[in-house]
Amino acid sequence: MSTEVQQACVELWQVMSTTFNTTVVKKSDSFQMQTVGWFLNTMGILDKERFLQRYTTTIYKSIYIPFEIGQGTDAECWSQMRTCVHEHQHVVQAKREGFPVFAGKYLFDGDQRAKFEAEAKACGQELQYWRYGQLEKPELVCASLADYNLNSAQIAFAARVLSSYQKTIKANGTITKAGKVALSFLKNNHPHLCERRG
Ligand SMILES: [Zn+2]
Repeated sequence: MSTEVQQACVELWQVMSTTFNTTVVKKSDSFQMQTVGWFLNTMGILDKERFLQRYTTTIYKSIYIPFEIGQGTDAECWSQMRTCVHEHQHVVQAKREGFPVFAGKYLFDGDQRAKFEAEAKACGQELQYWRYGQLEKPELVCASLADYNLNSAQIAFAARVLSSYQKTIKANGTITKAGKVALSFLKNNHPHLCERRG
């Protein structure tokens, strides 16, 4: 028997993947990922081993994940759901900018990378706010960007951008396209996940 969070996790990945036409690949299955890991490592963006073990990565419409969808504790599955929406927002960004432009900006310009990540991190906040009515400290959420070869000024910039997104989220606006699709699915199919009081 799976819990509702585990079930919702599996369904959300299916819905998002269908809506945004993405393919989900297990990292351990993918020889290509070893090459990508080497590339990011060489670029100084992510440490290869950490990348392969911990990080979900999206390249164009392929999402490479280091976990089994819907497996693990409720907290882990909730985190997988947040990751799902985060990565699909990168797909939205790539479509909005055009993939070569997006990839160029993301890889070669730290300020741009900080901006893209702040926007994708807003997705996690949208889900979090819907479920718990609470937001996380932008500085804490953005701290992980140190692993993305961003300096402290760029991380602080990302936190400011995220903080401004949070103001809108608090006013009950969902900003991101991926967040809108995900929340509409969750509200309609798993309303009980919402634990907000009042
Ligand atoms: Zn990201």
